[in-house]
Parts: sequence; C-alpha cells; structure tokens
Amino acid sequence: MNQAQNPIIVWLRQDLRLTDNPALYHAAHTGAPLLIIYILDDDSAVPWQAGAASRCWLHHSLAALSDSLQGQLLFARGKADDILPRLARETKAQAIYWNRCYEPWRIQRDKAIKQRMQEDDVAVKSHNASLLWEPWQAVKPDGSPYKVFTPFYRKGCLERCGEPEAPLPAPAHIMFHRHGALQSAQNKIDSLALLPRIKWDVKIMAGWTPGEKGARDALDLFVRDGLRGYKQDRNRPDLPHVSRLSPFLHRGDISPRTVWHEIRRATVAAKLENDGDHFCSELGWREFSYNLLYHFPSLPSLPLQEKFSAFPWQDDPAMLEQWQKGMTGYPIVDAGMRELWETGYMHNRVRMIVASFLVKDLLIDWQHGARWFWDCLVDADLANNSASWQWVAGCGADAAPYFRIFNPVTQGQKFDPCGTYIRRWVPELAALPDKYIHAPWETTHNSVYPDPIIDHKKARDKALSLFSGLKKS
Ligand SMILES: Cc1cc2nc3c(=O)[nH]c(=O)nc-3n(C[C@H](O)[C@H](O)[C@H](O)COP(=O)(O)OP(=O)(O)OC[C@H]3O[C@@H](n4cnc5c(N)ncnc54)[C@H](O)[C@@H]3O)c2cc1C
Repeated sequence: MNQAQNPIIVWLRQDLRLTDNPALYHAAHTGAPLLIIYILDDDSAVPWQAGAASRCWLHHSLAALSDSLQGQLLFARGKADDILPRLARETKAQAIYWNRCYEPWRIQRDKAIKQRMQEDDVAVKSHNASLLWEPWQAVKPDGSPYKVFTPFYRKGCLERCGEPEAPLPAPAHIMFHRHGALQSAQNKIDSLALLPRIKWDVKIMAGWTPGEKGARDALDLFVRDGLRGYKQDRNRPDLPHVSRLSPFLHRGDISPRTVWHEIRRATVAAKLENDGDHFCSELGWREFSYNLLYHFPSLPSLPLQEKFSAFPWQDDPAMLEQWQKGMTGYPIVDAGMRELWETGYMHNRVRMIVASFLVKDLLIDWQHGARWFWDCLVDADLANNSASWQWVAGCGADAAPYFRIFNPVTQGQKFDPCGTYIRRWVPELAALPDKYIHAPWETTHNSVYPDPIIDHKKARDKALSLFSGLKKS
C-alpha cells in the first residue's frame, strides 16, 4: 500500500452528519480511503457520561448516520485513547481527522491522543464544526474572556469575529476503507447498548426524528411556521414558536452554521429581521455557554461566584422528589417537569421557572437540578446545562440577580394565559376553569392534584434574606 492509499481515520463525535462536517469533507477531498468511526467512550467521560434520554437520541442519530454512510460506520466502545492508536497502527493510517469538542474531559483526552498519534507519525487534523466562533477568538481585545453576554455577543462575536463561515456541502464522494470489522456481525449499533432494557424510550422518542434529515425537517418547519413571531412568542410554551433544534445541535445532527445561515436567508426573504436577529442571538447564548465552559472548566461543578460555595442549601430528598415527579402543587412547575419526563424536552421559559422554583423556593442546590436535567433531557449539554443552572441560581457569570425569584402563579398567567400547556401535561387539572388553572388550591373543584408543597411568599422572603446575607458576606 503506498502512502496515498493508506486510510485516513475520521473520528466522529458531536458531528453526526454529512453536511458541514469539515473533518469528513476535508478527509474525503484528499482522495484517500476513509475509515469512519464512532467510539462510545464512557470511561473518559466520568462523571459526565451521557444521561439516559440523551443516549436514546444518540442511538437513533447514529443509526441514521450509519444508513447515510451505507453501513460503513464503525462502532466501538471503550477508551478512545486505547482504540485509536491501535486502529491507526493496524490499518497503517496516514492521518486522523476530527472536529473539535469543548468539554474539559474531551479537551484533555484529545490532547493526549494527538500527542500519541504524532509520536507514531500519524498526522492529526482538527476542525471546528460545533460552534459559530472559537472560544479563544471571541475574547476581549486583551485576550481575556467575556463574562457578560451582550458584550460577548456584540463585540467578541459579531464585531471581532464577524459573520460565521458558510456551511460546507456534504462530500461529493467518499471512498471507504474496507476494514474487516465493518463487515463483522458485531458491528451493530446495538453493540453500544445505548437503549434501555425496559422500553421507556419508545414514548420519549415518539415525537422526535433524530438524524440529519430529521434536523433539516425541524429547521424547515420552524422557518415556515415558527420564525414569524419568534421574538415575542418564544416565551409561550402553549404556542409552537420555538425550533426544538437543541438535541440536533447537541449531537451535531445539524451544524450551527447551517442553522444560522438558513435563518439569515429566511429572515431577509420574509423581512423578519427582528425575529431572525433574536433567534441568532439565542444561538449566541449557546456560544456564550461554550465560551464559559472553555474558559472556566469547573463550570459544571463549582459556582463561578465563589461566595456561593458557602450558601446553606437545604438537604430535602422528599421535596426534591416531588419536584422531579411534577407533584409540587404549582401547575406550571409540574407541567414542565412532566413534559421533561415524557418527551425529554422542556420549553426554555418553563426550564427557567422550574429551576428558579427548585433553587429559590425549595432552596435545593442547583447541582441536583442540573443532574436531573442531565439524565432526562434529550438535549442535555454540559455547557448549556451548567451555564443555565448557574444563571438561574444567580451564581454564574452574568447571572440573574438574586432578587429575581419567579412567582410560579404569575409566570403561568403571563406565559400560558389560558392554561393550554398546563392542561396538556397535568391532565387532572384539565377540567378546571381558566380562573383557577394557575392556583387550583383556590377552588374546591379539585381533589386529586396536590396542595402546594411550599408557600411561595414565605419561601421568597426566606430566599431573599439568605441570598442578600450572602451578598454582604
Ligand atoms: C435550567 C436550564 C437548563 C438548560 N439546559 C440545557 C441543556 O442541557 N441543553 C441545551 O441545549 N439547552 C439548555 N438550556 C437552554 C434552553 O432552554 C434550550 O437550549 C432551549 O429550550 C432549546 O429549545 P429550542 O431548540 O426549541 O430553542 P430555540 O428558542 O428555538 O433556540 C434555538 C437554539 O438556540 C440555543 N438556545 C436557545 N436558548 C438558549 C439558552 N438560554 N442558552 C443556551 N442556548 C440557547 C439552543 O441551541 C437552541 O436549540 C437550559 C436552560 C435552562 C434555563
């Protein structure tokens, strides 16, 4: 085999697609045969192995990708830093290409693999496929990271880095390296054991079509029906004005560049500048979370504002369980927690309400909430989840001020005015008149639904006193 025929290994991770996949695109354009591999590396991920719902998504996303690659996707399970050097030696690979990931554990592992490969004379090429701007580029003029969203987005991203690059097409042709393992009966997605033994996943996945085509369809549907009115109605869980693209973006079924440029195109065509700009700024929040995780790798486990380490969180497993099960007696909170349990998703406004309730009404440590979300969300994402929980708890960068404590009744009245969302997820309240739907304890109509597990007003006063004490300390 001469050098030109030696294969290139393409290692796919958070980029499970053919379009706008720079590692795959550039590897294919060399003309070398490609060995394309996905490795389920739970060992290196500890304690951030994908949660249960996210694993279901991953299973289906990989299955779709394997079909698009005519079954020529190699599946492996174990430590990538053992598997890749072995595979490179065995196949006499000339290079390995991958797209960059930004979780601290992945950065550490990838650096070690890169060094090992270079020692073995295997070239390593990495690309950006998951972000619009690299976290080391969207920084202040002195090179330090932004901690506040608006200057980060406006100055660091839009002014300093400019419009994101246009997405790449799918490679026109891929020559596959015919590795024996690809033909073996063991090379089945089921070997990754991503789906649960008890088939609860069927219900969760019923509303989703993971994979590149599902992502494109979701984007097209949003552009057609959801984009007009996004700026105002994205806060309404009772209306279909959000894209539901987050799990696709997390796994890389679609790239943020594809989404950005499609929204820009649609915005100009339909003169929807306000809606389009606002949507792009939400993609900017995603960038901001990744920026924080990159520059502050302890984000998932430690409050960014150190003084919060001393906060006297309550240890109350019973209350935590009532929150998890959607049995708090506050309809908008319970609707959100049940939506999460049944679909693996929760509307952003409701995520903020339930998170505020856990942290500020129940005074339970945000890390318990973040962990529950990690296990239940199909879009569970270390950067977005950690940054968002810290934001709600008030301990993050650019966080919600400590005195912003959502009132679950008025939030429900404002964002789900007729109770449509509540009735959908809390069916035992379906027959209540609108007047009582956000405060069922004010009527005698209802007997099944629990009474509030805490008095919001008293809880608010207690939280204010504890949080303001912290502020002074
Ligand atoms: C407590 C809490 C936990 C969260 N955990 C996650 C998580 O694990 N994974 C996750 O992807 N998002 C998380 N978010 C952010 C946000 O709720 C979701 O990204 C959003 O609800 C996804 O729905 P969508 O795709 O329909 O959003 P759209 O409104 O259609 O937004 C489009 C895209 O922009 C990005 N985006 C939107 N809002 C935010 C935001 N506030 N922060 C960061 N990115 C945003 C997402 O990638 C989203 O897909 C969390 C928010 C909160 C308050």
